[in-house]
Amino acid sequence: MTVNKDKTEVGFIGLGIMGLSMAGHIQAAGYKLHVYNRTKAKADELVAKGATWQDSPGDVAAASDVVITMVGYPKDVEDIYLGKDGIVDRAKPGACLIDMTTSEPTLAIKIYDAAKAKGLGSLDAPVSGGDVGAREARLSIMVGGDEADFNSVMPLFEAMGTNIQLQGKAGAGQHTKMCNQIVVAGNMLGCVEALSYAIKSGLDPSHVLESVGTGAASSFLLNNLGPKMIARDFAPGFFIHHYIKDMSIAESEADAMGLDLPALKLTKGLYEKIAAAGAREDGTQALIKAYEDQS
Ligand code: NAP
Repeated sequence: MTVNKDKTEVGFIGLGIMGLSMAGHIQAAGYKLHVYNRTKAKADELVAKGATWQDSPGDVAAASDVVITMVGYPKDVEDIYLGKDGIVDRAKPGACLIDMTTSEPTLAIKIYDAAKAKGLGSLDAPVSGGDVGAREARLSIMVGGDEADFNSVMPLFEAMGTNIQLQGKAGAGQHTKMCNQIVVAGNMLGCVEALSYAIKSGLDPSHVLESVGTGAASSFLLNNLGPKMIARDFAPGFFIHHYIKDMSIAESEADAMGLDLPALKLTKGLYEKIAAAGAREDGTQALIKAYEDQS
């Protein structure tokens, strides 16, 4: 089976910064959409364009051939998939379940096993590319699960992203996303340390970005978040509390493998410090706060 916009009904649960844009692309591609979000008002825009509101994750599953989820934490994922009357309980026969939340590899395997026991498809498919990538349908999508399930829902992935890779069996998508978040940890430190240095040395940091933003030090984070750091624009594209969640998952997975990641630990500690001082709902660019007020 391959999804088809004339026949396949798609459920989408979790309509926050990422999910709202991603669901919007699936709707714009012509699929009939069933939606649910903890705060109902966030579904208004999609419902106004023809999506059907459902009263629970289970109700979404009962109405959909493919269910996509983009919620916040592993606990949210576990509740909506494995809870009583949840997605796995209520899914249509032969449905495919796709969790795009950044979550735990072990939970992805648990959901895969529960889904397969009921003859359902199951993929873990976290993303990278930020709120900008979600808005512009340019996400990198990292998938774990069976190749047949992956191929069957490819048109839905293509509606949301441009780089779509099957990385291995269940859990491999989440493990790949952890690699992504480990790269981000080191890169964020480099970005804030360079900009703090530029400011302290009396340079114009925006002008500095014009030089270093195209050379060997160039990066997505430097070019997208650097200008926001300089402007002290801390509006969230990616919440600090979600990034701390991701680093905690990566750290505990690495610990379980006997792998020490000192740069990840350092970055996580700095984020925890500014979160405790009130920045947990800021965007990740607020890491520059950890370098301010140094006499
Ligand atoms: P967000 O704005 O907080 O969106 C999460 C949405 O899920 C919220 O609307 C929330 O409802 C809803 N939700 C949570 N638990 C739910 C439940 N049990 N039932 C129904 N709805 C539920 O966060 P986001 O930035 O979109 O991130 C979503 C996920 O993607 C996170 O795991 C994050 O780490 C990951 N991610 C984010 C980015 C980024 O740049 N933002 C990039 C890649 C990956 P409420 O509206 O009531 O809060």
